[in-house]
Amino acid sequence: MPFSLYTLIETSFPADRRRIAIEVPDRTRGRTSWTYGELAGAVARAASLLGNLGLKKGDRVAVQAEKSPEAMILYLGCLRGGFVFLPMNTAYRTDEIDYLIGDAEPSLIVCDPVREAETREIAARHDVRHVMTLDAEGRGSFAEEAAKVRDARPVVACASKDIAAILYTSGTTGKPKGAMLSHGNLAANGIALRDAWHFTEDDVLLHALPIFHAHGLFVACHCALLAGARMIWLGRFDRAEVLRQLPHATVFMGVPTFYVRLLDGADFDANLVAHMRLFTSGSAPLLAETFEEFRARTGKAILERYGMTETGMNTSNPYDGERRAGTVGFPLPGVELRVMNDEGKMLPQEEVGGLEVRGPNVFSGYWRMPEKTAEEFAEGGWFKTGDVAKIDADGYVHLVGRAKDLIISGGFNVYPKEIETLIDEMPEVDESAIVGVAHRDFGEAGVAVVVLRKGQMLDEATLIGRLKNVIANYKVPKRAFFVETLPRNTMGKVQKNLLRETYGDACR
Ligand code: AMP
Repeated sequence: MPFSLYTLIETSFPADRRRIAIEVPDRTRGRTSWTYGELAGAVARAASLLGNLGLKKGDRVAVQAEKSPEAMILYLGCLRGGFVFLPMNTAYRTDEIDYLIGDAEPSLIVCDPVREAETREIAARHDVRHVMTLDAEGRGSFAEEAAKVRDARPVVACASKDIAAILYTSGTTGKPKGAMLSHGNLAANGIALRDAWHFTEDDVLLHALPIFHAHGLFVACHCALLAGARMIWLGRFDRAEVLRQLPHATVFMGVPTFYVRLLDGADFDANLVAHMRLFTSGSAPLLAETFEEFRARTGKAILERYGMTETGMNTSNPYDGERRAGTVGFPLPGVELRVMNDEGKMLPQEEVGGLEVRGPNVFSGYWRMPEKTAEEFAEGGWFKTGDVAKIDADGYVHLVGRAKDLIISGGFNVYPKEIETLIDEMPEVDESAIVGVAHRDFGEAGVAVVVLRKGQMLDEATLIGRLKNVIANYKVPKRAFFVETLPRNTMGKVQKNLLRETYGDACR
């Protein structure tokens, strides 16, 4: 078989193809499990269907679908056929989708049946040739058409640098950028993680993460598939369902919010997880107190790792060895890290600066944004992560802040600029600032501080209600406060640190 990430994945399947690849215990209708043999067949049909539609290597396939094994099959079908998979957050509203589609120019959009009419309008606006549907139960025109496919087109050969997926991440400018991940990037990172975390075909991964994000789609699926392991898929994190399934699993991957919620009840205890091999955490900082409480309750140390959409995973606490709370561990094999000061000089251990990363995991650039891409790379292929970090004397990496103005709410990134722009466009508003404050459940949440125009009236509920109509819920600030002026420094920059102090307790 020619090389592609898919070839690598399929050659990692267990020799016994009757072994279960994926099961969905919480599904009320439709198919509930796939063996590895069935998975390979379904992926081949999905790839052939797209090829039969006339899609060519490199064409984009944009997907806004609820989590389902069929959606993962569509992803793998894209890899197999050489198409570029473009997952979109299920919470995105029409305007957000419209921007992504206009920018990425896909040949096919797959959406939930309930959004078909509006998706067809978006598709028509941007000359997208095909629209298909797929729901959480795996039903819809994508599944119906795929079931009819009889021919299996061969795997399309891809060079390591060919783009496998584009994942949009919002920037500090508020305009989402499409991070292009190559077959080589994803393969290198998948293998590094599988090996670092000792995945084998005897593992059962309890998968409760969304699959429109790198964590659930790449980190989780690639570890399991590249080991020929089994996955139990939950449509979303539901505490009761996770407790029911944990006895059948060996590995669980979460964002910190999952762990906070698991600990929130005495029924999560050492007995329930005594057999578990590994718990990992990432996408947002795991508080040391959560790490300690988890260890006290279960006797197990959560393994925290760090990465980002553009780079995949960069660091991981050790599998064997001390997992240190409040650190994200060591660089993964093949990954180089360095800490830089503002003048571009490399800093010694223990000193805090901008973290840069280089390695086979690092993306090839932002879709159709060569200038933005050039800005984010230093000479020699070092990517500027935007995270502020130090490396301690033992080599553990500590993330101490973000150079970017980013808020991470429940594991999802919220870029204040995007929300501020929407608030500032409201006719009553003069200006606004969004800051992240501590939130018991989401870790962090956005709070809006708003200055109204003279003589204008606007209340908190109205402002929040309007935002809910146009952006995904996780981006909507949890509180809004109205003030006379925003505090500014001598350079005229809003002093968000002061706002964070003032409103720090607003969401506790
Ligand atoms: P994303 O592109 O959505 O994966 O977000 C990447 C950002 O999430 C990184 O640049 C970090 O700021 C943050 N992040 C990821 N993992 C961790 C972690 N373990 N601790 C703290 N922040 C993290």
